[in-house]
Amino acid sequence: MIPFNKPHLTGNETKYIEQAVASGKISGNGDFTKKCQDFFTSRYKFKKTLLTTSCTDALEMAAILINIEPGDEIIIPAFTFVSTANAFVLRGAKIVFADSDVQNPNINCDLIEGLITSRTKAIVVVHYAGIACDMDIIMQIATKYRLFVIEDAAQAIDSFYKGIPLGSIGHLAAFSFHETKNVISGEGGMLVVNDEQFFKRAEIIWEKGTNRAAFYRGEVDKYGWVDIGSSFLPSEVISAFLYAQLENINDIQRTRKLLWNTYYSSLKHLEDRGYIELPKLPEYATNNAHIFYILCHHVETRDNLISYLKEKGILSVFHYISLHQSPYYKAFHDGRILKMSDYYSDRLLRLPLYYDLSQTDIKYITNSIDLFFKEN
Ligand SMILES: *Cc1c(COP(=O)(O)O)cnc(C)c1O
Repeated sequence: MIPFNKPHLTGNETKYIEQAVASGKISGNGDFTKKCQDFFTSRYKFKKTLLTTSCTDALEMAAILINIEPGDEIIIPAFTFVSTANAFVLRGAKIVFADSDVQNPNINCDLIEGLITSRTKAIVVVHYAGIACDMDIIMQIATKYRLFVIEDAAQAIDSFYKGIPLGSIGHLAAFSFHETKNVISGEGGMLVVNDEQFFKRAEIIWEKGTNRAAFYRGEVDKYGWVDIGSSFLPSEVISAFLYAQLENINDIQRTRKLLWNTYYSSLKHLEDRGYIELPKLPEYATNNAHIFYILCHHVETRDNLISYLKEKGILSVFHYISLHQSPYYKAFHDGRILKMSDYYSDRLLRLPLYYDLSQTDIKYITNSIDLFFKEN
């Protein structure tokens, strides 16, 4: 059986966890947490980083930081994971779904302005498959209407827009280290704060509404409850695991890109002959090899291909049921037809992609896809 995903261990994960345990400090905001946060600020020039227990948590922090109040409207792509919406709905926001682009599943920037009302507070963009949204256009719209931009960069580690790291462009950004992502810690995430007005409050919300972080730095002489907040910070056990991964990020990325490129070149002839479409990379974006997807022409073809591959011992998956079609969010959607979101929900197929996938596995997978189109 070729699984859809398999977590990759780089070697030092358990060693660092043992170090964290031996240090006698295993709650949050210790040495490994700081090492991870510093890694990101120095490598990607993120202004401030706070590790969280998930990307979902980082998005929830973002919703608190921009002071979402009941009735505030948030524009998000319908084609995304549910946390992109839930984090804001938990604070009373109304979600306004935007359709995807024709070129790729990212938000269609041309449609954003038409969705803005006097209640709109933020645009949350998702860099699907780690491929950048057109951030210049999005930031221009945000400036014009005085909106916040939050990057859901869950899939976008080590990926760039016009040479600028994703996660460093919006006012806030959220990353994921869930075991299905490129760099992992089981569950895990990070909030990136690029707008300085949020620096102080972000730390407070992170530490349960206390000013404990400032207290430990000696900036205040006692710590107390100064705001709302929650327990968003991960324990040192998680940060230790993550740090081992980060030390190997270049190797992880190199390997994943190699696998991605093998998929692409092995399937190109099927695209040339009109059976499938392969991912398209806008000239401003890089590929961080988070997801390899193909697009089938019909939902039936896609679903039959999933079953066919399963019979051959290969697990592939569709991605996602767009939120405006989901049991929960359907009731809140205003009824607009989101043609491209539906298009990707019906036709997109994700193939296995993980560090320990071999070239032989990919040969077997792509040969099986060939056979499927020959037989059908
Ligand atoms: C994975 C993912 C999330 C959720 O990440 P967690 O760390 O599991 O909370 C959110 N948004 C997108 C786009 C994702 O791909």
